[in-house]
Amino acid sequence: MKYYKKTHAVVIGGGVIGTSITYHLAQRGIDTILVEKNDIASGTSGACDGFVFLQSKKPGYHLNMALKSTRMMEMLSSELTLDIEYRKNGGMIIVKSPEDMPDIERLVKRQQKHGLDVQWLNSQEARKLEPHLSPQVVGATYSSMDAQVNSMMLCFAFAKGAEEMGGEILTHTEVTDIIIEKNKIQGIITSEGAIKSDIVVNAAGVYAPVVANMAGVKLPIIPRRGQILVTEYMPPMFSRVMICSKYIVSKFKRSPLYKDETGVGLAIEQTKAGTILIGSTREFAGYNKNNTPGGIQSILKHACEFFPTLKEISIIRTFAGLRPYTSDGMPILGEIGPVKGFITASGHEGDGIALSPVTGFMIAELIEKGKLPK
Ligand SMILES: Cc1cc2nc3c(=O)[nH]c(=O)nc-3n(C[C@H](O)[C@H](O)[C@H](O)COP(=O)(O)OP(=O)(O)OC[C@H]3O[C@@H](n4cnc5c(N)ncnc54)[C@H](O)[C@@H]3O)c2cc1C
Repeated sequence: MKYYKKTHAVVIGGGVIGTSITYHLAQRGIDTILVEKNDIASGTSGACDGFVFLQSKKPGYHLNMALKSTRMMEMLSSELTLDIEYRKNGGMIIVKSPEDMPDIERLVKRQQKHGLDVQWLNSQEARKLEPHLSPQVVGATYSSMDAQVNSMMLCFAFAKGAEEMGGEILTHTEVTDIIIEKNKIQGIITSEGAIKSDIVVNAAGVYAPVVANMAGVKLPIIPRRGQILVTEYMPPMFSRVMICSKYIVSKFKRSPLYKDETGVGLAIEQTKAGTILIGSTREFAGYNKNNTPGGIQSILKHACEFFPTLKEISIIRTFAGLRPYTSDGMPILGEIGPVKGFITASGHEGDGIALSPVTGFMIAELIEKGKLPK
């Protein structure tokens, strides 16, 4: 085999997971090449919200990972040399139906036990923080620890940081096969030629099963579509990132059997640029990234019930992204399958932006020290 490049580690995928891993490897001085078939942030990481949200994480391992990641994100916001538009203004879960109250109260108690600073606000208190909320809401949870970033800028910042520390980024280069000998990684074949490598990290998001297949590994990750609407520029209207209680129910309803439902749960944030991102659906529609009239309609209906003033604002565009869904809602991390040196880091579903710092750290630890940190 004739190789055109040689390295210790290859990372497949230039989304938030692949760029974070490459950044953390480069920081440790580990020779790394990231290979992306299109552009940086051209996949799900460029078609999503930017919530660094703790309240939507299940208490236990998931929330612990998110707590670590959030602390890292705060440090990264000053360490990275591009502005990732990190703002820690807190977040809310808004409750409109009194029937959702018992579930939310239970969640808050469990989260508090696991170290999350979260409290319950009645309707008046919630509207004091977010005056555009409808008086119909029965209340909201509030955590000062929730934050937001610009997901695309985060990918660009990780990639730039990695390059500044000696990492190499190859865009418009598609991985077409993985070279394995005696159950050990030898390298990859790309559209530009073969690259010799001891380690291959599969950070290909919803395409991770296709890449895993090249190494004879079956990965249970499927796409879960999310549609988002973007408004015109507005003067500051919302300070916090907000989801509704139905979002939590929809997120934790973990079965593709619900494929006919749009699974709408409100997620709303105002970007630094002033546009408002209003989402989103949770649908099993294969690799179809189209926006649908049904999806758009249910998002708008739902959003205007919580924020009636949105009725007067122009929607300027829509987009959709594919969440890499796993049946237990947890990412798949580590050396999966029989091939030595083949590492998986995919399946972050709706949490990849928030969990990207800790994922990059964990995979870099695994590659440097041979063990995933707990
Ligand atoms: C509507 C929506 C809203 C969301 N909101 C949030 C949020 O607020 N907060 C949050 O934390 N998360 C959110 N998420 C989830 C988050 O966006 C994802 O978990 C995350 O972007 C996944 O990142 P990734 O790097 O694994 O995948 P991707 O960003 O898809 O990156 C994978 C990359 O691999 C490349 N690739 C694939 N195959 C190959 C190949 N053969 N060769 C080379 N390259 C290849 C692709 O081109 C792609 O760029 C949201 C998702 C959606 C859809």
